[in-house]
Amino acid sequence: MKYTEIMVRYGELSTKGKNRRLFISQLARNVKQALHEFPEVKIRGERDRMHLMLNDEDSHEVMDRLKPIFGIQSFSPVIKIEKETEMIKNTALEMMKEVWKEGQTFKVKSRRSDKEFVWDTNDLNREVGAAIFNGMPGIEVKMVKPDIRMEVEVRQEAAYLSCETIFGAGGLPVGSSGKGMLMLSGGIDSPVAGYLAMKRGVEVEAVHFFSPPYTSEQSLQKAKDLTVKLTPYVGNIQFITVPFAEIQEEIKRQIPSGYWMTVTRRFMLRLTELIRQQRKGLAIINGESLGQVASQTMHSMLAINEVTTTPIIRPVIAMDKSEIIKIAEKIDTFELAIQPFEDCCTIFAPPEPKTKPKLEKVIDYEKRLDVDGLIKRALEGILMTEIKSTDQFLNQMTEEVDDLL
Ligand code: ATP
Ligand code: MG
Repeated sequence: MKYTEIMVRYGELSTKGKNRRLFISQLARNVKQALHEFPEVKIRGERDRMHLMLNDEDSHEVMDRLKPIFGIQSFSPVIKIEKETEMIKNTALEMMKEVWKEGQTFKVKSRRSDKEFVWDTNDLNREVGAAIFNGMPGIEVKMVKPDIRMEVEVRQEAAYLSCETIFGAGGLPVGSSGKGMLMLSGGIDSPVAGYLAMKRGVEVEAVHFFSPPYTSEQSLQKAKDLTVKLTPYVGNIQFITVPFAEIQEEIKRQIPSGYWMTVTRRFMLRLTELIRQQRKGLAIINGESLGQVASQTMHSMLAINEVTTTPIIRPVIAMDKSEIIKIAEKIDTFELAIQPFEDCCTIFAPPEPKTKPKLEKVIDYEKRLDVDGLIKRALEGILMTEIKSTDQFLNQMTEEVDDLL
């Protein structure tokens, strides 16, 4: 079937009152970005629906790209035809033959804004329903909760038919909630945290601390690859690396080992906070989950969080590891995350980190360090690269080529 347009239904944004226009234009920008390989597609965002005119682009490929976009509740491929009774009946029958599976029921639901059209909605329902029923032996009609709803709409300019509804990703359009800095390690939790923040409309930039020569090139690549996995939801993501070796060496030299981890986290947070200010973000996002490790007790968080008043969003705070892993598998970050490359924390991991660090002690120990100088030098070494959504497909392609070799 050659579809002419995709009709997109908005998710929660329809409840957002006067912000609605902003949400719709953000969603339109995100859709446009996700469809940049389909230059002929034209996007029309209306109050209740968004219409994508395909102009001969492939409907299946376009729909695949719509699936990860937050802010879309569902979408349907639509065919636009002449307002002519035989044409409407035949096309409806042909469409139904394509989607129907043995045992499924159907009904026809019609609307008509062209009141001059020869059939009213009752005629449309009856005539189109009969054409399908007579043309497809074994198909049953069911008025309440049918498996397939054939929607027929007759407007001034043409008739529109659709009978498939595909669920979208839900959530809010990325960017509609503002921007946050995602503290992205190479682990399982932080990419999931980033995904969940994006689902609620947050645009993310990834901040990654690394410690060459103690950490390898592969460990950095792993963080980049994880970022690539987050691009289908947003398009491009800024990936910001912060050199962290000097700070870690200095902490190891000056601070009792029970407090390494607390002080390390405080430095990460201070630096992320400064980057947030530069990049005009509104929040910091991390992958902390209560009780998972020593740095993630409430005592630890209190001692670490003290360096900033910026809101810290912790989307996985109350999740069990198994729940986090389920999402990591869904977004395809799990396999990457469990690759055993050491990150900056594993290398400088203290033998026995304090699970109940005391804030007064932390502050006292930090007096031994040149905090401002260390922060300044780390900031001077920051690098930013844009990870593009097309990298996702490039990566897939290299995997496929590898398979062939
Ligand atoms: P993850 O699976 O995300 O690595 P984790 O369970 O290993 O988390 P921690 O190592 O305690 O937990 O880190 C807690 C959070 O601190 C991480 O989820 C991440 O947001 C941030 N973080 C840790 N290491 C780094 C790093 N090298 N770069 C950026 N952020 C980091
Ligand atoms: Mg980690």
